[in-house]
Amino acid sequence: MISFARQHLARFLPPFLSHLVHFFFRKRYNMGDCIFCRIIAGQAPADILFRDDQVTVFRDIHPAAPLHLLIVPNRHIPSLNELQEQDAALMAHLLLAAKRMAAEQGVDKHGYRLIINTGIQGGQTIFHLHMHLLAGRPMRPVG
Ligand code: 5GP
Ligand code: ZN
Repeated sequence: MISFARQHLARFLPPFLSHLVHFFFRKRYNMGDCIFCRIIAGQAPADILFRDDQVTVFRDIHPAAPLHLLIVPNRHIPSLNELQEQDAALMAHLLLAAKRMAAEQGVDKHGYRLIINTGIQGGQTIFHLHMHLLAGRPMRPVG
């Protein structure tokens, strides 16, 4: 919601004021220089398939499967470690967005994999919480 307000506020302002708005929100919400925040704010390019006030879905730039989507909360949460109890509805929303995307992309029947990498050893490289949706080829068992 905050991110959504920030984007819309910034859109109607002259560029120098828009930069001020983004600077304020970066400091206030600890967004740093986050590529996913920039994609969500429309400041960096991405192949966006879906967005609403809570979530944005776009294609991974280095796909690891024929279909590789990133399901990303619009609000900057660095990782699952920073998730709060009050974010429960947001996470449910992300899961439902994943389910809907899988159906829309026609992979729901054959199946797909959802992954949330967390922290360095978990393989997380972008510290803005996101879920990978991988599909279009058989996945090896995890174990
Ligand atoms: P992680 O390793 O953090 O779980 O996943 C980060 C993912 O983001 C990687 O699969 C990587 O390919 C993708 N990625 C990194 N930078 C960009 C970018 O600028 N645009 C898009 N669309 N994907 C990105
Ligand atoms: Zn971010």
